[in-house]
Amino acid sequence: CGTNPQDEKIKNTLSKIKRKLVVMSGKGGVGKSTVATNIAVALSMAGMKVGLLDVDVHGPSVPRLLSLSDAKPHMERDCMEPVPYSDNLYVMSLGFLLPSKNDAVIWRGPVKIGLIRQFISDVVWGELDYLIVDCPPGTGDEPLSALQELGSDAQAVIVTTPQGVAIDDVRRSVTFCDQVGNKVFGIVENMSGFTCSKCGHVEDIFNSGGGEALAKEMNVNFLGRIPLDPAVARSGDEGYSILKLGEHTPTSEAMNRIIKPM
Ligand code: ADP
Repeated sequence: CGTNPQDEKIKNTLSKIKRKLVVMSGKGGVGKSTVATNIAVALSMAGMKVGLLDVDVHGPSVPRLLSLSDAKPHMERDCMEPVPYSDNLYVMSLGFLLPSKNDAVIWRGPVKIGLIRQFISDVVWGELDYLIVDCPPGTGDEPLSALQELGSDAQAVIVTTPQGVAIDDVRRSVTFCDQVGNKVFGIVENMSGFTCSKCGHVEDIFNSGGGEALAKEMNVNFLGRIPLDPAVARSGDEGYSILKLGEHTPTSEAMNRIIKPM
């Protein structure tokens, strides 16, 4: 019997973090990592001290989204320093630890759970206003252990496109959070409408309003809509945050509205 030393380290890390947000989605490709990254950058630009933890073990995309693919965290005995993106935004991802970007990770649940625990216990996050956790899509081992390890005060941000097929999965994500005992902080509707740069006409490519209607139906906050914006796709491919670039776009306006209630 007695206390597990890793549990003690996790407790100690979490005691220094004011708020924990776990970014989830029902489906892949809806822009979850893009939203998680931009939320982290937006909060850091608003003066908060932020940690961004990528627990998408099979497809870690945060290093690439922030041009940190070649970064290696400094390690010492059983501690790891997160990689700085700016003075007040620190990043950790399995992507930093893989010998090659092309390596496929073939791990079963317990190994993934062990890694997530280590990312909390052994990474020197220090005092943070926010820890933003980017999970893989769905309701599998990673979001489950992220929520369980972070505790009941961690809240979920669920990203969806407005399509019916994505919305059905969001229902499952909301129910999942209820069952695990964590609150849903809110739903973000991404890829919501595309404004033609030539004529200004707004085309609802993936429909519109589905995320908001679902938020109402399930009695959770609706945080806002982000349009389908070629500048977002470009920023992801080229590895910079749309906000850090300082471009004034419909997306930067939407992001600022989304982080206001945080
Ligand atoms: P997920 O994490 O849900 O798999 P990503 O964040 O990796 O999704 O996004 C998938 C792709 O869609 C990326 O190429 C990204 O740049 C692009 N993308 C995400 N959101 C938008 C948007 N609002 N407008 C245009 N492209 C977007």
